[in-house]
Amino acid sequence: MSTSANLPAESAQASTGAARTDGTVTDRLVDANRLYAKDFADPGMDARPVLRVAVVACMDARLDLHDALGLELGDCHTIRNAGGVVTDDVIRSLTISQRALQTRSVVLIHHTGCGLEALTEDFRHELEMEVGQRPSWAVESFRDVDQDVRQSMQRVRTSPFLLHTDDVRGFVFDVSTGLLREVDPAS
Ligand SMILES: [Zn+2]
Repeated sequence: MSTSANLPAESAQASTGAARTDGTVTDRLVDANRLYAKDFADPGMDARPVLRVAVVACMDARLDLHDALGLELGDCHTIRNAGGVVTDDVIRSLTISQRALQTRSVVLIHHTGCGLEALTEDFRHELEMEVGQRPSWAVESFRDVDQDVRQSMQRVRTSPFLLHTDDVRGFVFDVSTGLLREVDPAS
């Protein structure tokens, strides 16, 4: 089967070297990076975050941490995963952040409409049924986002590996208003 015969428009584009509309999404990112690097000036910073803060947040595509928090290049560590959950691996990153790179504040950000609210721990069981192996990790799904933020704060505060657990605050980012709402750790 000849793909070029089926896709005459794409073949024509490729042969003329026109702007890449036929590349993969990764090609598009690499192209964007070339433009970025053109105007990039070495900021001359070392790896220690200027504001001495680490932000742990959900990977959600609607949450632009730098814009939402007024952060500049070099200001903070950003640690992201599905849910912004404080897993062992997040503790690993926070430990390195604090002990090797001198951050001391931790900000936790979950958000409205998180994909993890739609899942349950059955997800693991279904995976096991499908692939014949149960994942070693928990799904960390939740029903109550505030409660999940509280649990994340608690995991950071009680970690024996961290040097600084006095300035740990948790928030819910509203994906429709762009506003953060702080979660009271005590309620
Ligand atoms: Zn999320």
